[in-house]
This record gives sequence, C-alpha cells and structure tokens, in this order.
Amino acid sequence: MSGNRKVPVRKCVGCQEMKNKKEMIRIIRTAENEFVLDTTGKKNGRGAYLCPDRECLKKAVKNRGLERSFKQAIPDEVYEALEKEMIDIDTR
Ligand SMILES: [Zn+2]
Repeated sequence: MSGNRKVPVRKCVGCQEMKNKKEMIRIIRTAENEFVLDTTGKKNGRGAYLCPDRECLKKAVKNRGLERSFKQAIPDEVYEALEKEMIDIDTR
C-alpha cells in the first residue's frame, strides 16, 4: 500500500475549481428530466457539482455553468432551490 489516498474531486460549475466531491452540492437531472439537488451523492442521474457557497452560485448563474454542463436551460426553481440550500448551510 502506498498510503496515497486519492480523494475524488469534481469541478465546480461556478468557480471552476476542483474540489472534494463530498464537500460539494450535486445537482442531478433525472430520467424524467427533472432537476434535483442531491446532498447524499447517492442518487442516479447526470450530475453537476457546485461548492456550497453562494458566491459560486452567483458565478454559475453568470457563466451559465449549469446550462453548459447539462446542455439545456435550467429552470429558475433549480437556482432558487440551490440558493435556499446554501442559506441553510450558512445558518446550520
Ligand atoms: Zn466553486
């Protein structure tokens, strides 16, 4: 054993930085074409990752990172749900 523990990292659609995926919010698109936030990392579907940071959410809105990641328009409710989730994290 090398002791070299590899941490799975994902790129944030906001700041574009690679971070530990366990610390990120996952947004997935289900087979029914619905967007859901996956805080457990266990749901199936095409996913994108975002830091649990409202600044990253702002950046993602601005650079259309989610749209690019999913190659389609993202409903406003998804952004609203993300913002709410981040406020929850802030005040936890
Ligand atoms: Zn970020």
